[in-house]
Amino acid sequence: MDPSQERLLRSMHAAGVRRMPAPRAGRPAPPQPGPRATPAAAAQRERAVSGSAPGLFAAPRLASLPPVADPEAELAAVAREVEACRACKLCGTRTRAVPGEGATRARIVFVGEGPGADEDRTGRPFVGRAGQLLDDIIVKGMQLQRADVFICNVVKCRPPGNRVPEPDEAEACAGFLDRQLAAIRPAVICALGATAVRRLLRDDRPLGALRGRTWDYRGVPVIATYHPAYLLRNPSAKVQTWQDIRRVMELARKA
Ligand code: SF4
Repeated sequence: MDPSQERLLRSMHAAGVRRMPAPRAGRPAPPQPGPRATPAAAAQRERAVSGSAPGLFAAPRLASLPPVADPEAELAAVAREVEACRACKLCGTRTRAVPGEGATRARIVFVGEGPGADEDRTGRPFVGRAGQLLDDIIVKGMQLQRADVFICNVVKCRPPGNRVPEPDEAEACAGFLDRQLAAIRPAVICALGATAVRRLLRDDRPLGALRGRTWDYRGVPVIATYHPAYLLRNPSAKVQTWQDIRRVMELARKA
C-alpha cells in the first residue's frame, strides 16, 4: 500500500468509515455528490431561497422546452402579429404598435410597462426621456450597447394618456411577451416597474417589497427594479436601481 492510500484509509477510519462496499462487477458505481455545486445548481438554490413566482408554477421551465428553431423568425412573426392585433381595446387608440427590439439571443431582457407617446409615434420601445435614461443605464452603467439587449413591454400598444394598462389588456397581450421570452431564452430578465413585475411574477405586492431579491419566471431569474419614468420623478431611487442593475449583470455573467 502506498503512503497516499494509507493516509486515505486513516482519514476514512477517523471519520467512522470501516469498510467501503466494492462496486459490483458489470455495474457502474453510483455517482457521488461532488464537493462543489455547479453554477446552475447554486443559482437554483438561490432562487429557491429568494422566492418564486406563485402564479407560474404550472408553466414549464423554458430550459425544459425544445429551443425555438429560429428565434429571429419567431420574433419577426410576433412583431407582425402585434402590428395586426386587435385583441384588446388599446388597438383603437394606438398610432403604431410597439412589439419590442434588440438582440435575438440577448442575455438580458428589459420588460417595461407599455409604450408612451414617443414610442407610439415611432413604433420603438423606450425612445422618450425614460428611454434615454434606460440607454444611459445600459451604455454608461452596464458598458453594453442597446443592441446587445432586448427591450419590450407588457402591453404593445399605448394606453391612452399613459395610464397603467388594465388587467384585461395585460392578459390579452401576455402571449406575445411569453413568446418573445421563449424565443430569446435570456439569462436574466429585468422587470422595470410594478406592471412588469405583476405580469412576470403574478405578484401584486408593491415594487419596494420585491426589490433586492432574485425571482423566477419559468426558470429564468428576474430582478425587479424601478421604471426609468419613476427615476425621472424620483432621482434618489437611482442608487437602489444601480444595486439592482449590478445584480442583473452578475446573473448574466454567471448563467
Ligand atoms: Fe393586441 Fe397587445 Fe395591442 Fe392589445 S395591447 S391590441 S393585445 S398587441
